[in-house]
Amino acid sequence: MRVLVTGGAGYIGSVVAAQLLASGAEVVVVDDLSTGHADAVPPGAEFHERNIAELDPVLGDWRVDAVVHFAAKSLVGESTENPALYWRNNVIGTVALLDSMRASGVERIVFSSSAATYGIAEHQPITEDAPARPTSAYGASKLAIDLALADYARAYGLAAISLRYFNVAGALVGDGVRFGERHATETHLVPNALRAAATGTPMPVFGTDYPTPDGTCVRDYIHVVDLADAHLRALEAVETGRHRVLNLGSGLGHSVREVLDAVGRVVGRDVPVDEQPRRAGDPATLVASNAEAGSVLGWRPARALESMIADAWEFEQG
Ligand code: UDP
Repeated sequence: MRVLVTGGAGYIGSVVAAQLLASGAEVVVVDDLSTGHADAVPPGAEFHERNIAELDPVLGDWRVDAVVHFAAKSLVGESTENPALYWRNNVIGTVALLDSMRASGVERIVFSSSAATYGIAEHQPITEDAPARPTSAYGASKLAIDLALADYARAYGLAAISLRYFNVAGALVGDGVRFGERHATETHLVPNALRAAATGTPMPVFGTDYPTPDGTCVRDYIHVVDLADAHLRALEAVETGRHRVLNLGSGLGHSVREVLDAVGRVVGRDVPVDEQPRRAGDPATLVASNAEAGSVLGWRPARALESMIADAWEFEQG
């Protein structure tokens, strides 16, 4: 199989591209390097520095069988301040990509959607039939594409799966292999906590008065390697004329304090913290039901929180 990975110079895209290559697939990466890093594209992948809105007509020449689509803006706060960036990049850009696929006869897509599509859910764990009421332009842009994929599947026979990620952490590390999180502006809990433990500079804990057991937000963390495995399975599971939505999470909730304790154990130093008010838009609890992904993909996450943190720490140390 020959697969186009958009955003293959980014965090999750580079891990999936590496895993696809390891599985024997041919990989073509498209990334405009607006947030990605050229040296994160795995060796062995064919790389084109390009925006996803500019694949007509070259996509036909690349002769790919399927697309795994990551390329997107992905910061909730930025999307609130500058929604145009999200509607243009994530929505208009992706519709252009879908139309390039139609024009060149590429019929399979796995799309990087998000738990942010659900917004504040009434019931936990969140199942795929929960109402989608995003609270940010980022979540809205992901939901818009989930809806577009359903239409393209029905009308044009596209075979599509949207994977709604919960909190992704960890890295792909091994013999000579290192793919992980390298964001210019790092907002995520695990890398920030690792850096705080390493440098001794306190990090913010956003909100200690949530209605959760220890007052901090509860999230569902999933190892990026388990997440990548689900993408490889989804590429095989897509069906002509059908769009499915699947949650990808561990099904377990961990509070911010539990994550910081685990980081302290892995690094061997406590994480210094600065308790701050709640961050705008953060729901108290987000935990996935992963039963649907289990039954459709035969997928089970295999790596627990400490292993995500240990791998992210190995990656951080360079
Ligand atoms: N968080 C925090 N300090 C940080 C980064 C994150 O307290 O420096 C909290 C954040 O408020 C949320 C949880 O950690 O409750 C996970 O945040 P992250 O940005 O990693 O992912 P999100 O759940 O927003 O997608």
